[in-house]
Amino acid sequence: MATERFFYCEKCDKKENAYKLYDALIDVAEGNFKKCPNCNKIMTLKLKFPFGLEAEHFKGNVLNAFYPEIPKIGNKIINRP
Ligand SMILES: [Zn+2]
Repeated sequence: MATERFFYCEKCDKKENAYKLYDALIDVAEGNFKKCPNCNKIMTLKLKFPFGLEAEHFKGNVLNAFYPEIPKIGNKIINRP
């Protein structure tokens, strides 16, 4: 199962799907926070990780995101997964 992700407004309980997780994380890293269409408050990006074997699902809020610093060795750039 994929990670469930959505934007949530703490003020008015509005919930919107975050269709592209990668794009949502880039917006957080760049400070482009999604605002609630009802009350204009900044919405929280929430993630829910479905684990198998009947383990309890973990829910969390995205507090921040960042770009990794790409190490350079000589003229080569090492790509990390
Ligand atoms: Zn709202």
